[in-house]
Amino acid sequence: MAEYTAPLRDMKFVIEELVGLEDITSLPGYEHATPDVIHAILEEANKMARDVLSPINRTGDMEGSRLENGVVITPKGFKEAYQAYMEGGWNGLQFDEAIGGQGLPMLVATPVFEMWDSANLAFMLAPVLTIAAVECLEKFGSKQQKEKWLPKLVTGEWTGTMGLTESNAGSDVGALRTRATPENGHYLISGQKIFTTWGEHDCADNIIHMVLARTPDSPDGTRGISLFIVPKFLVNDDGSLGERNDLRAVSLENKLGIHASPTCVMQFGENDGAIGYLVGEECRGMEYMFAMMNSARLAVGREGVGISERAYQQAADYARERVQGKDISNPVLSSVPIIHHPDVRRNLLTMRALTEATRALGYYVAARQDVLKKHPDSDVRAAAKARIDLLVPIVKAWSTDCGIEIASLGIQIHGGAGYIEETGAAQYYRDGRITPIYEGTNGIQALDLVGRKILRDRGEALQLFIDEIRDTEIKDPMIADAMWSALDALKITTDWMLADPGDDPRIVMAGATPYLRALALITGGWLMARAANIAASVEDHDDDDDFYKAKCVTARFYAANLLPQVAGYAQAARAGSKDIMALSGDAF
Ligand SMILES: Cc1cc2nc3c(=O)[nH]c(=O)nc-3n(C[C@H](O)[C@H](O)[C@H](O)COP(=O)(O)OP(=O)(O)OC[C@H]3O[C@@H](n4cnc5c(N)ncnc54)[C@H](O)[C@@H]3O)c2cc1C
Repeated sequence: MAEYTAPLRDMKFVIEELVGLEDITSLPGYEHATPDVIHAILEEANKMARDVLSPINRTGDMEGSRLENGVVITPKGFKEAYQAYMEGGWNGLQFDEAIGGQGLPMLVATPVFEMWDSANLAFMLAPVLTIAAVECLEKFGSKQQKEKWLPKLVTGEWTGTMGLTESNAGSDVGALRTRATPENGHYLISGQKIFTTWGEHDCADNIIHMVLARTPDSPDGTRGISLFIVPKFLVNDDGSLGERNDLRAVSLENKLGIHASPTCVMQFGENDGAIGYLVGEECRGMEYMFAMMNSARLAVGREGVGISERAYQQAADYARERVQGKDISNPVLSSVPIIHHPDVRRNLLTMRALTEATRALGYYVAARQDVLKKHPDSDVRAAAKARIDLLVPIVKAWSTDCGIEIASLGIQIHGGAGYIEETGAAQYYRDGRITPIYEGTNGIQALDLVGRKILRDRGEALQLFIDEIRDTEIKDPMIADAMWSALDALKITTDWMLADPGDDPRIVMAGATPYLRALALITGGWLMARAANIAASVEDHDDDDDFYKAKCVTARFYAANLLPQVAGYAQAARAGSKDIMALSGDAF
């Protein structure tokens, strides 16, 4: 099985040339992120991916985490890898120096984390949730809570979790039943959370659960939910660890992939009640949790890119080595590696084009996050926020759908060997399969895009984005034609959606998923077209000639093969919706 090597050349191209590092490092507070510093960080992150995380990916999958006497034991090497991660100061990469971080832009943190998603997705889930907990507490925690909980979450000495899901409350978070009863200045939490990622483990000294629960007499639904900090160990005033809190992992889920990541059923308050501390105000928990979820949704989209890259690298390696069949242009010669066959090359280029496009999208949004955080002009910040809000569901849903489609193509390229576990190709598919499900299923993302992000402001944020795409001068005429046709096709459906096509909201929502795919393909196509513009205009290619040539080829492939799909998806989004609702439930 091939080990992973970070696609540093493409990452640097997207960061520096496509998204524009200078625009970000000229923001106040990011001046220290010079290209030299960033290159050094990317090199070090690559070493961590290649030498520490990738080697325990397969063994972690086979061994899995296990629960013994209430303690979760992670697979061999995970504790040491987590120690190396923590000691390297990686957990605080994007956090302000004022709270113990390194103060680097998201545009730098995103490729670093993408490498580790590729190298070992199961491992990376612990940092993802810890980082989301830091972001939430930084924004909504009290001064005292920040002082108490943030320092060790920022270093990674403690990890964080997200406790939303219960057996009767999945997509419908508002149905949750966990109780929080006020007592002596804190709350007593009781209830069961399922599917808690890294809910219990042996890699860190403490685990800080961010738990949603209901206070007495709170209203039904999401309006009655509050957010609590519920630590595994209570923490004394001097920062030392105190008593064990009343919570434990009662079982681990037996699942399709990410076997090394312990997915826990957590029981809170079996005895007196687990001590929890209210974040912000009662009944505003969903609002606070959304801060955590947006960060986590972008991170999950990045996981999709990580899976895609890893699957692509392995498939390309395999296609260069596996000898099978003759070259159809010269059948008298002996058998050739399968990379000579046009159909295999089509699969590889599809994988590559979608990986590069979803990566570019993720980094583009990361840069908007940096602008939102640091830009001195409030109008510019507001525009960045509107763009992020519009694109979050696309990053989450499209990048993760692509992740599993690409992992599936990777298996296909391996033929039967891909279906056999030894090659590792199947693991990427199994591991990646959760990403379209958690953090709001991709169906829910599509509803969010159409309902909250487009219909709610009557398409204003979308129109600004489309105008920017239309204003882009696309130099390659074939790519330009494909893009303008795709935009025309999308416009017909957007106009139909906004024109209030009837009083049954199900009609528009039945098309939300194909609409998201259509807009996603356009967004990716726009970034690929801009990449082709840059690649074609670089006069002195030096040693990078192959890279820029490949970028143009990949962008043209995307325009010719993927952009035409927009018309089909856009058409599907508005036609056939009535049929989708026509059958009774029993008729399925
Ligand atoms: C490995 C793993 C790790 C996880 N980690 C965490 C974690 O750390 N913390 C946490 O809180 N949760 C976690 N989850 C839970 C995860 O977020 C939920 O599984 C997810 O939100 C979906 O909820 P559900 O499984 O109950 O599915 P359901 O909500 O029952 O959905 C079933 C299907 O119905 C669709 N659906 C449901 N409602 C609607 C609707 N209104 N409109 C259209 N379609 C709808 C969904 O898209 C889905 O296809 C994890 C789950 C897994 C499997």
